[in-house]
Amino acid sequence: MEKIIKTENIRKVFRTEDVETWALNGVDIEINEGEFVAIMGPSGCGKSTLLNILGLLDNPSEGSYLLNGTDVTLFTEDNRTTLRKGVIGFVFQSFNLIDDLNVYENIELPLLYMGIPRKERKRRVEDAMRRMDITHRAGHFPQQLSGGQQQRVAIARAVVATPKIIFADEPTGNLDSKNGIEVMELLKQLNSEGTTIVMVTHSQRDASYAKRVINLFDGQVTAEIHQ
Ligand code: ADP
Repeated sequence: MEKIIKTENIRKVFRTEDVETWALNGVDIEINEGEFVAIMGPSGCGKSTLLNILGLLDNPSEGSYLLNGTDVTLFTEDNRTTLRKGVIGFVFQSFNLIDDLNVYENIELPLLYMGIPRKERKRRVEDAMRRMDITHRAGHFPQQLSGGQQQRVAIARAVVATPKIIFADEPTGNLDSKNGIEVMELLKQLNSEGTTIVMVTHSQRDASYAKRVINLFDGQVTAEIHQ
């Protein structure tokens, strides 16, 4: 199986004027293409920092990160942005939708950034809305939707660019149990179609959808559980 993610001794320090916080203290992980991995651990152990680095939103202070076999820590910010657009999708706890854009326009946004022609954009947005069962909400704005519907829009926006990997940071954190399960079922469906999923979660229920759980503590991997 091909490794899509491989980190070697990643460390990350945040420095303010007088405080130095080592958020990651030597993280080595490998993730195969098509895997569904959950990252768990107590608050402050470095989960979001790791996910941001894996998702090219941040750079490690030390160590190397091979994404699809390429050492991305050597990339310029421009190169990382380009790679992010083509390969990576994000789903956040807070949905991160744009209030002034309707459902259709929110989902279309990544395709506009990628310079996809209008006809192809329409085809892809309609397909993503159908898969996430939100076609009937195309003209609605985020504040007119329930949390579950907003997260479905956010997932549609992530998948519309056909990413190889979806990074999800507490994707059900703001949802009730019914909507949470629906969102997890959608992620499971995407994974069964071949998308690699890397998810940070506090929830045992959500972690049960993953095939492997990586436990972090104090910026280090303490256990890996295959399930
Ligand atoms: P988790 O997601 O597991 O709750 P984080 O990755 O958010 O943990 O944070 C790990 C550690 O790094 C914490 O001690 C946190 O306070 C610190 N940290 C995270 N981001 C920053 C930042 N931008 N500036 C300073 N410290 C940070």
